This record gives sequence, structure tokens and C-alpha cells, in this order.
Amino acid sequence: MIMRDNKFIQSVIVLSVIAVILTACGDKEAQDKIGKYIYKDVQDIYHIDSNCSSLLHQGKYKGEELYGKEMMDTSKFIIADKEFRVCANCVGDDEYDHILRISHRNENRRWLYNWFVRENYDMENFDDFIINLSDTEKRRKAYKAALDIGLDVGETFEEFSEIMGF
Ligand SMILES: [Zn+2]
Repeated sequence: MIMRDNKFIQSVIVLSVIAVILTACGDKEAQDKIGKYIYKDVQDIYHIDSNCSSLLHQGKYKGEELYGKEMMDTSKFIIADKEFRVCANCVGDDEYDHILRISHRNENRRWLYNWFVRENYDMENFDDFIINLSDTEKRRKAYKAALDIGLDVGETFEEFSEIMGF
């Protein structure tokens, strides 16, 4: 059974694979700099360093002091902003690529999870699903199940693993 309405997601996955290939270099270092959270400030600018001076001192806007940050869990966040802007102070090129990659990965995981729910698989909650996906054998089962549904999840299990960020 082939699902026709997932063309958009297919392109997302293809883009993710390209992003994975492009960012393979320098990624380890960027990965080390990004922790459990990234932070969105009141101007919708993303930071990776919670102590970033630009995040802590956001200045004034129309006489009002700007402050506050939105904590975004690295394991779940998906970039929803049309204009995705990062801090010039704490986010370098490699970190930027890595943030994009995390977002694509999260999007792919969420997409897969939603498909399983839609197909009436008996699903754990999303957090546990991710923990289970990190297990190679369970991930292999998920890959088979996705193929059974007719989803385009990569030519090989290895490709699938990359798409899902493992
Ligand atoms: Zn910053």
C-alpha cells in the first residue's frame, strides 16, 4: 500500500539525508556544544549557550526591558519559524547545521510515530518510542513496519537509521 499524501515528508527526509551528508564533518564538535536545551529569546532568535550574553542582555524595545527565554528540548523541538534566525554570538556555522539536522531528525521521528499511531499500532508514548528506536533491534522492527505501511524510509536499514538520527 503506497501512501500518496506523504510527498512533502518524503522531500523532508531527502533533505535530511543531504543535510546529514553535508554536516558529517565538524559535527562532533557542534554536537558537544548543543545540550539538552536550545533557547529561543523574545525576538525568536535561537541560542545554544544559556549563558550567552546576547540572551541574558536582550536590551530594550520601545522602552521596555526585554527578557525571557523559551526552553526548547533538543530531543523534540522542530523549527516552526518561517524565518529561522540564530544568535550571531553563540551559534557558529557547524552549530547552525547541527540545529537544522536535529530539527529534521525530530520531524522525521514525529512523522514516523504519527504514522504508526494512524495505522493503529499499539504505541508507547513518544519519549519511550525514541528510547526504543535507539535500540538497534527495535529500530529494525520499526523499519520493517514502516516498509509494510508503504512509507519511504530509506533504501536500507542504515539509511533509515541516519534519517532517524541514530
Ligand atoms: Zn546567543
